[in-house]
Amino acid sequence: MIEFKNVRKVYPDGTEALKDFSLKVENGELMTLIGPSGCGKTTTMKMINRLIEPTSGSIYINDKEISDYNIHELRWNIGYVLQDIALFPHMSIAENIAVVPEMKKWRRKKIRDRGIELLEMVGLDPSTYQRRMPSELSGGQQQRIGVIRALAADPDIILMDEPFSALDPISREQLQKDIRVLQKEIKKTIVFVTHDMDEAMAIGDKVCLMKEGQVVQVDTPQQLILNPKTQFVRDFIGERKSPWQTAVDVIADQSQSHVIFLSDYEQGLYNQSGMYAIKDEHNMYVGAVNDGNKVDIKTIDNDIPLFQATEVIQSDEQVILPVLKEQKLVGILTNKDIIAFLRSKTKVENGVVQ
Ligand code: ADP
Repeated sequence: MIEFKNVRKVYPDGTEALKDFSLKVENGELMTLIGPSGCGKTTTMKMINRLIEPTSGSIYINDKEISDYNIHELRWNIGYVLQDIALFPHMSIAENIAVVPEMKKWRRKKIRDRGIELLEMVGLDPSTYQRRMPSELSGGQQQRIGVIRALAADPDIILMDEPFSALDPISREQLQKDIRVLQKEIKKTIVFVTHDMDEAMAIGDKVCLMKEGQVVQVDTPQQLILNPKTQFVRDFIGERKSPWQTAVDVIADQSQSHVIFLSDYEQGLYNQSGMYAIKDEHNMYVGAVNDGNKVDIKTIDNDIPLFQATEVIQSDEQVILPVLKEQKLVGILTNKDIIAFLRSKTKVENGVVQ
């Protein structure tokens, strides 16, 4: 876990880059730092590997203050990926990946095997790419090497400072997907700086929105959309919000048209054709019934985005999707609700969809 406690940073020229900044990043979590230019994202990131020292306050890694670590050990345990990947141009790809493992005095075979494993992990054929020089790779491929080089010596923490911002949109989107897939596998603690809200929302388990050296809101992407704490958050998310990102509980039908009470079900006091969700007297979901027969159906969590819900619907023949908040039935989602919602979010002028 990385923890900032009341950190302040004043640069020698008097610029106060961070004011009373506190933030926790749990182990295995990918936290994106986002905010307007100059809000202190890079300063925050560079403090983690002590490229910048705080003026006051403390930073901890696994409950030990970072100033108590040997600086080399600290940095070896932190992978770093920059916007300008800066692969060593005179070294082959394999040699580039081997830099930190060599510093750590790994055995030759272990280094070679690790290089092969990492290249395979990001879909670059080792027999082709190991021996190539950086200039023989595309920008997107070089950036992939930058990412796996940071992973090479198996650090617990990875810092990424706008790593994809110099790439074209297609490579960028691909790398965002790669990083999500990789993260599921490797479960590192990642701090990722970006100025692109779509990127922050797409890859972050959590997003830390900053303004003028302070945290405005730290939350899951979905919660930021659903419960923005201030107008600033709302504005920052603003136009970027696609209706497909809307949480399902906003869209779900909260009338009780596909719902019956357990007691009514037990006494047969309901229309026995069609599909219904059954809830008890505390509004807890207890199951479903179809044409009078108890059935096992899929349910969805209240805070998942619409897009994810449609994947569930598509993979099934289910006509109603109970929406649950910790087992409590908060609504029912049907195709009709989804169509109505999407239509309501679509602008039509003079018969033309905008
Ligand atoms: P961000 O990454 O969010 O753009 P930074 O952390 O780079 O923000 O910068 C935060 C503030 O600190 C900005 O006002 C910036 O101009 C200032 N700053 C950054 N580095 C220095 C420095 N070495 N000396 C003086 N001011 C700096």
